[in-house]
Amino acid sequence: MANKRNYQKELDGVIESLNGKVPTLLLHSCCAPCSSYVLEYLSQYFQITVFYYNPNIYPPEEYDKRVLEQKELIRKMEVLHPVSFLEGAYDTERFYQMARGMEDLPEGQERCFGCYELRLREAAEVARQRKADYFTTTLSISPMKNAEKLNEIGERIAREYGIRYLTSDFKKRNGYRRSVELSGEYGLYRQDYCGCVFSKREREQKKGTILQDGKDDNRGKRG
Ligand code: SF4
Repeated sequence: MANKRNYQKELDGVIESLNGKVPTLLLHSCCAPCSSYVLEYLSQYFQITVFYYNPNIYPPEEYDKRVLEQKELIRKMEVLHPVSFLEGAYDTERFYQMARGMEDLPEGQERCFGCYELRLREAAEVARQRKADYFTTTLSISPMKNAEKLNEIGERIAREYGIRYLTSDFKKRNGYRRSVELSGEYGLYRQDYCGCVFSKREREQKKGTILQDGKDDNRGKRG
């Protein structure tokens, strides 16, 4: 069996090879809480544009809320190299087309891999247009996201577009824990479902079951 890759070590290697140069990075972000640690970490080495492209998010009010939080975080955060913000299109139809036939799958399965790909592909497109040195996503910080799949998709798209993808597993080195701390420090809104209508429904069903069981439901914060 092939050895499991250590994406954090690979990222360390890339950062070491920069030798003090500060390349540009197009960083796809799913939400402010997930981006908090990634920005704190990577802004030491890269000039970052946060690319907010998440047509999966439902409902539109939730989308607006997450965009606002993202902008606020960038405004407030103390970073070594400047971070800018770019919003992609909220083209929800693309997401629903991708998800067709997979609406009832639980989070973490094929629909999610399609969702990663949709967002990474758009990030690659924009990275190429803007001639960014690298592109990547904050998504691997979440314990609910499959880092192996994310990196596999990111690397495949990078080859297709002829650009460089930064492999990552940001949950390593306590990245997820740090993102929770930073979310507290900056008073960020942390949602309790991944983002799409299907994950919202799944979360609500779970909540219903938990409440019926009479257990406390002070769980499930994510992002
Ligand atoms: S659960 Fe999350 S990753 Fe999966 S399809 Fe929905 S929004 Fe995308």
